[in-house]
Amino acid sequence: MSILNADLHSHSVVSDGTLTPEVLAARAAANGVDLWALTDHDEIGGQHRALAAAKAQGMRYLTGTEISVTFAGVTVHIVGLGFDPDDAALVQGLAATRGGRGARAMEMAEQLAKVGIHDAYEGALRYVGNPELISRTHFARFLVEVGACRDTPEVFRKYLTEGKPGFVPHRWAQLGDAVRWITEAGGMAIIAHPARYAFTANEEWALFSEFKAHGGRGVEVVTGSHTNAEAIRYAETALEFGLAASRGSDFHSPEESHTDLGKLPLLPGQLTPVWELLADRVR
Ligand code: AMP
Ligand code: MN
Ligand code: MN
Ligand code: MN
Repeated sequence: MSILNADLHSHSVVSDGTLTPEVLAARAAANGVDLWALTDHDEIGGQHRALAAAKAQGMRYLTGTEISVTFAGVTVHIVGLGFDPDDAALVQGLAATRGGRGARAMEMAEQLAKVGIHDAYEGALRYVGNPELISRTHFARFLVEVGACRDTPEVFRKYLTEGKPGFVPHRWAQLGDAVRWITEAGGMAIIAHPARYAFTANEEWALFSEFKAHGGRGVEVVTGSHTNAEAIRYAETALEFGLAASRGSDFHSPEESHTDLGKLPLLPGQLTPVWELLADRVR
Protein backbone atom coordinates (compact mmCIF):
# COMPACT_ATOMS: atom_id res chain seq x y z
CA MET A 1 0.00 0.00 0.00
CA SER A 2 2.77 2.50 0.79
CA ILE A 3 4.29 2.03 -2.69
CA LEU A 4 1.21 3.94 -3.85
CA ASN A 5 2.17 7.24 -5.49
CA ALA A 6 0.12 9.50 -3.22
CA ASP A 7 0.49 13.27 -3.50
CA LEU A 8 -1.59 14.78 -0.72
CA HIS A 9 -0.43 18.42 -0.74
CA SER A 10 -0.83 20.82 -3.68
CA HIS A 11 -2.20 24.28 -4.53
CA SER A 12 -4.32 25.66 -7.37
CA VAL A 13 -5.45 29.14 -8.45
CA VAL A 14 -8.11 28.79 -5.74
CA SER A 15 -5.27 29.75 -3.35
CA ASP A 16 -1.68 30.59 -4.34
CA GLY A 17 -0.95 28.05 -7.07
CA THR A 18 -0.78 29.07 -10.72
CA LEU A 19 -2.66 26.13 -12.30
CA THR A 20 -6.37 25.31 -12.30
CA PRO A 21 -7.56 22.15 -10.50
CA GLU A 22 -8.11 20.54 -13.93
CA VAL A 23 -4.60 21.29 -15.22
CA LEU A 24 -3.11 20.13 -11.90
CA ALA A 25 -5.04 16.85 -12.10
CA ALA A 26 -3.77 16.23 -15.64
CA ARG A 27 -0.21 16.99 -14.54
CA ALA A 28 -0.49 14.70 -11.50
CA ALA A 29 -1.85 11.85 -13.61
CA ALA A 30 0.89 12.35 -16.22
CA ASN A 31 3.45 12.11 -13.38
CA GLY A 32 2.00 8.78 -12.21
CA VAL A 33 0.07 9.96 -9.15
CA ASP A 34 -2.48 7.30 -8.02
CA LEU A 35 -4.06 9.20 -5.16
CA TRP A 36 -4.24 12.99 -5.16
CA ALA A 37 -5.45 15.79 -2.85
CA LEU A 38 -5.76 19.49 -3.67
CA THR A 39 -5.00 21.36 -0.41
CA ASP A 40 -5.59 25.06 -1.05
CA HIS A 41 -4.80 27.42 1.82
CA ASP A 42 -7.81 28.17 4.08
CA GLU A 43 -10.20 27.34 1.25
CA ILE A 44 -12.11 24.34 -0.08
CA GLY A 45 -13.88 26.09 -2.97
CA GLY A 46 -11.93 23.95 -5.48
CA GLN A 47 -12.80 20.55 -4.01
CA HIS A 48 -15.72 19.55 -6.22
CA ARG A 49 -13.78 20.54 -9.36
CA ALA A 50 -10.67 18.69 -8.15
CA LEU A 51 -12.63 15.50 -7.42
CA ALA A 52 -14.27 15.58 -10.86
CA ALA A 53 -10.90 16.26 -12.53
CA ALA A 54 -9.24 13.41 -10.59
CA LYS A 55 -11.96 11.02 -11.68
CA ALA A 56 -11.63 12.17 -15.31
CA GLN A 57 -7.89 11.39 -15.08
CA GLY A 58 -8.44 7.97 -13.49
CA MET A 59 -6.95 8.96 -10.11
CA ARG A 60 -8.33 8.35 -6.66
CA TYR A 61 -8.98 11.48 -4.61
CA LEU A 62 -9.05 12.71 -1.00
CA THR A 63 -10.59 16.10 -0.19
CA GLY A 64 -7.98 18.50 1.16
CA THR A 65 -7.12 21.89 2.62
CA GLU A 66 -4.19 23.54 4.43
CA ILE A 67 -5.27 25.68 7.38
CA SER A 68 -3.14 28.57 8.65
CA VAL A 69 -2.76 28.37 12.45
CA THR A 70 -0.91 30.52 14.97
CA PHE A 71 0.84 28.43 17.64
CA ALA A 72 3.28 29.94 20.15
CA GLY A 73 3.44 33.05 17.96
CA VAL A 74 4.50 31.06 14.89
CA THR A 75 2.45 30.29 11.76
CA VAL A 76 1.90 26.53 11.50
CA HIS A 77 0.08 24.82 8.66
CA ILE A 78 -2.38 22.00 9.34
CA VAL A 79 -3.39 19.87 6.37
CA GLY A 80 -6.86 18.35 6.49
CA LEU A 81 -7.70 15.30 4.37
CA GLY A 82 -10.80 13.22 3.74
CA PHE A 83 -13.41 15.61 5.22
CA ASP A 84 -16.91 16.31 3.93
CA PRO A 85 -16.41 19.43 1.74
CA ASP A 86 -19.95 20.61 2.48
CA ASP A 87 -19.57 20.50 6.27
CA ALA A 88 -21.01 23.82 7.52
CA ALA A 89 -18.67 24.32 10.51
CA LEU A 90 -15.58 23.64 8.40
CA VAL A 91 -16.77 25.99 5.64
CA GLN A 92 -17.45 28.70 8.25
CA GLY A 93 -14.16 28.17 10.09
CA LEU A 94 -12.18 28.49 6.87
CA ALA A 95 -14.08 31.64 5.88
CA ALA A 96 -13.23 33.18 9.26
CA THR A 97 -9.57 32.14 8.91
CA ARG A 98 -9.13 33.81 5.52
CA GLY A 99 -11.22 36.83 6.54
CA GLY A 100 -8.28 38.98 7.64
CA ARG A 101 -6.29 38.57 4.43
CA GLY A 102 -7.62 41.66 2.65
CA ALA A 103 -6.71 44.11 5.42
CA ARG A 104 -3.36 42.39 5.93
CA ALA A 105 -2.59 42.74 2.22
CA MET A 106 -3.37 46.47 2.25
CA GLU A 107 -1.07 46.92 5.23
CA MET A 108 1.67 44.97 3.44
CA ALA A 109 1.30 47.30 0.45
CA GLU A 110 1.55 50.37 2.71
CA GLN A 111 4.79 49.07 4.18
CA LEU A 112 6.21 48.22 0.76
CA ALA A 113 5.35 51.74 -0.46
CA LYS A 114 7.54 53.13 2.34
CA VAL A 115 10.53 51.30 0.85
CA GLY A 116 9.73 52.53 -2.65
CA ILE A 117 7.60 49.67 -4.02
CA HIS A 118 4.34 51.28 -5.08
CA ASP A 119 0.91 49.91 -5.97
CA ALA A 120 1.80 46.46 -4.64
CA TYR A 121 -1.79 45.75 -3.54
CA GLU A 122 -3.15 46.29 -7.05
CA GLY A 123 -0.13 44.48 -8.47
CA ALA A 124 -0.59 41.43 -6.25
CA LEU A 125 -4.32 41.37 -7.01
CA ARG A 126 -3.52 40.78 -10.67
CA TYR A 127 -2.03 37.40 -9.68
CA VAL A 128 -4.92 36.43 -7.44
CA GLY A 129 -7.30 33.72 -8.67
CA ASN A 130 -9.61 33.95 -5.64
CA PRO A 131 -10.24 37.46 -4.25
CA GLU A 132 -10.68 36.00 -0.74
CA LEU A 133 -7.25 34.50 -0.86
CA ILE A 134 -4.65 37.19 -1.43
CA SER A 135 -1.39 35.82 -0.03
CA ARG A 136 2.27 36.67 0.29
CA THR A 137 2.89 34.50 -2.76
CA HIS A 138 0.90 36.92 -4.93
CA PHE A 139 2.96 39.85 -3.65
CA ALA A 140 6.11 37.84 -4.35
CA ARG A 141 5.09 37.35 -7.98
CA PHE A 142 4.41 41.09 -8.35
CA LEU A 143 7.79 42.01 -6.82
CA VAL A 144 9.52 39.70 -9.30
CA GLU A 145 7.51 41.28 -12.13
CA VAL A 146 8.67 44.81 -11.23
CA GLY A 147 12.28 43.66 -10.89
CA ALA A 148 12.58 44.17 -7.12
CA CYS A 149 13.98 40.62 -6.87
CA ARG A 150 15.06 37.84 -9.21
CA ASP A 151 12.75 35.10 -7.90
CA THR A 152 10.11 34.49 -5.24
CA PRO A 153 12.44 32.95 -2.59
CA GLU A 154 14.52 36.15 -2.77
CA VAL A 155 11.35 38.23 -2.25
CA PHE A 156 10.54 36.24 0.89
CA ARG A 157 14.09 36.64 2.19
CA LYS A 158 14.25 40.40 1.56
CA TYR A 159 10.66 41.58 2.02
CA LEU A 160 8.02 39.17 3.26
CA THR A 161 9.37 37.41 6.34
CA GLU A 162 9.52 38.50 9.97
CA GLY A 163 11.59 41.65 10.46
CA LYS A 164 11.49 42.58 6.75
CA PRO A 165 9.72 45.69 5.39
CA GLY A 166 6.68 43.95 3.83
CA PHE A 167 5.92 41.58 6.72
CA VAL A 168 2.71 42.12 8.65
CA PRO A 169 2.19 39.85 11.69
CA HIS A 170 -1.11 38.05 11.53
CA ARG A 171 -3.20 35.97 13.90
CA TRP A 172 -4.54 32.88 12.15
CA ALA A 173 -6.82 30.11 13.47
CA GLN A 174 -6.17 28.35 16.78
CA LEU A 175 -4.67 24.87 16.61
CA GLY A 176 -7.56 23.23 18.46
CA ASP A 177 -10.17 24.87 16.21
CA ALA A 178 -8.44 23.83 12.99
CA VAL A 179 -8.06 20.22 14.16
CA ARG A 180 -11.67 20.15 15.34
CA TRP A 181 -13.13 21.59 12.10
CA ILE A 182 -11.33 18.93 10.06
CA THR A 183 -12.00 16.03 12.43
CA GLU A 184 -15.67 16.80 13.02
CA ALA A 185 -16.15 16.99 9.23
CA GLY A 186 -14.98 13.36 9.08
CA GLY A 187 -11.39 14.09 8.06
CA MET A 188 -7.88 13.73 9.44
CA ALA A 189 -5.68 16.61 10.66
CA ILE A 190 -1.99 16.46 9.72
CA ILE A 191 0.93 18.72 10.70
CA ALA A 192 2.31 20.09 7.42
CA HIS A 193 6.06 20.31 6.65
CA PRO A 194 7.21 20.27 10.33
CA ALA A 195 10.84 21.09 9.49
CA ARG A 196 9.80 24.51 8.20
CA TYR A 197 8.97 26.02 11.61
CA ALA A 198 11.50 27.88 13.71
CA PHE A 199 10.61 26.12 16.96
CA THR A 200 12.85 25.20 19.86
CA ALA A 201 12.79 21.50 20.79
CA ASN A 202 10.40 22.29 23.67
CA GLU A 203 8.02 24.27 21.48
CA GLU A 204 7.99 21.54 18.86
CA TRP A 205 7.22 18.96 21.53
CA ALA A 206 4.37 21.17 22.74
CA LEU A 207 3.02 21.48 19.18
CA PHE A 208 2.97 17.71 18.64
CA SER A 209 1.55 17.01 22.13
CA GLU A 210 -1.23 19.59 21.89
CA PHE A 211 -2.00 18.56 18.32
CA LYS A 212 -2.49 14.96 19.48
CA ALA A 213 -4.54 16.02 22.49
CA HIS A 214 -6.88 17.93 20.14
CA GLY A 215 -7.35 14.80 18.01
CA GLY A 216 -4.72 15.34 15.31
CA ARG A 217 -3.57 12.07 13.77
CA GLY A 218 -0.89 12.63 11.14
CA VAL A 219 2.34 14.39 10.18
CA GLU A 220 3.90 15.07 6.79
CA VAL A 221 7.12 13.09 6.63
CA VAL A 222 7.93 13.23 2.91
CA THR A 223 7.24 16.69 1.46
CA GLY A 224 8.74 18.96 -1.18
CA SER A 225 10.19 21.10 1.61
CA HIS A 226 12.00 18.35 3.54
CA THR A 227 15.50 17.07 2.92
CA ASN A 228 16.07 13.31 3.26
CA ALA A 229 17.53 13.87 6.71
CA GLU A 230 14.42 15.82 7.75
CA ALA A 231 12.17 13.05 6.42
CA ILE A 232 14.07 10.52 8.55
CA ARG A 233 13.87 12.80 11.57
CA TYR A 234 10.08 13.25 11.27
CA ALA A 235 9.57 9.54 10.56
CA GLU A 236 10.98 9.06 14.07
CA THR A 237 8.73 11.80 15.44
CA ALA A 238 5.70 10.09 13.82
CA LEU A 239 6.59 6.83 15.57
CA GLU A 240 7.31 8.60 18.86
CA PHE A 241 3.91 10.33 18.88
CA GLY A 242 1.95 7.49 17.28
CA LEU A 243 1.02 9.59 14.24
CA ALA A 244 0.30 8.36 10.72
CA ALA A 245 2.59 9.66 7.97
CA SER A 246 1.69 11.73 4.92
CA ARG A 247 3.42 12.49 1.62
CA GLY A 248 2.90 15.52 -0.59
CA SER A 249 4.84 17.74 -2.98
CA ASP A 250 3.36 21.12 -1.90
CA PHE A 251 3.40 21.91 -5.62
CA HIS A 252 2.37 25.51 -6.48
CA SER A 253 3.67 26.26 -9.97
CA PRO A 254 5.83 24.77 -12.73
CA GLU A 255 7.98 27.93 -12.64
CA GLU A 256 8.41 28.17 -8.86
CA SER A 257 8.19 24.68 -7.35
CA HIS A 258 11.27 22.50 -7.34
CA THR A 259 9.28 19.35 -6.48
CA ASP A 260 6.76 18.36 -9.13
CA LEU A 261 3.50 16.52 -8.41
CA GLY A 262 4.18 12.90 -7.45
CA LYS A 263 7.96 13.28 -7.85
CA LEU A 264 9.16 12.62 -4.34
CA PRO A 265 10.56 9.73 -2.31
CA LEU A 266 8.27 7.01 -0.94
CA LEU A 267 7.42 7.01 2.76
CA PRO A 268 10.00 5.21 4.89
CA GLY A 269 8.91 1.73 6.03
CA GLN A 270 7.28 1.00 9.45
CA LEU A 271 5.13 4.12 9.20
CA THR A 272 1.35 3.96 8.84
CA PRO A 273 0.41 5.93 5.71
CA VAL A 274 -2.47 8.35 6.33
CA TRP A 275 -4.32 6.89 3.33
CA GLU A 276 -4.59 3.51 5.07
CA LEU A 277 -6.52 5.15 7.90
CA LEU A 278 -8.56 7.17 5.38
CA ALA A 279 -9.41 4.23 3.10
CA ASP A 280 -13.15 4.75 3.51
CA ARG A 281 -12.78 8.48 2.65
CA VAL A 282 -11.00 7.90 -0.67
CA ARG A 283 -13.19 8.75 -3.67
P1 AMP B 1 0.52 33.56 3.47
O1 AMP B 1 -0.46 32.45 3.75
O2 AMP B 1 -0.11 34.71 2.77
O3 AMP B 1 1.32 33.96 4.68
O4 AMP B 1 1.56 32.96 2.41
C1 AMP B 1 2.24 31.78 2.71
C2 AMP B 1 2.75 31.14 1.42
O5 AMP B 1 3.91 31.81 0.96
C3 AMP B 1 3.20 29.70 1.61
O6 AMP B 1 2.11 28.83 1.50
C4 AMP B 1 4.15 29.52 0.46
O7 AMP B 1 3.44 29.23 -0.72
C5 AMP B 1 4.77 30.89 0.32
N1 AMP B 1 6.09 30.97 0.98
C6 AMP B 1 6.33 31.09 2.30
N2 AMP B 1 7.65 31.19 2.53
C7 AMP B 1 8.26 31.13 1.33
C8 AMP B 1 9.62 31.19 0.88
N3 AMP B 1 10.61 31.33 1.75
N4 AMP B 1 9.86 31.10 -0.45
C9 AMP B 1 8.83 30.97 -1.34
N5 AMP B 1 7.55 30.92 -0.97
C10 AMP B 1 7.25 30.99 0.32
MN1 MN C 1 1.38 28.46 -0.55
MN1 MN D 1 2.41 25.28 3.99
MN1 MN E 1 1.15 24.13 0.99
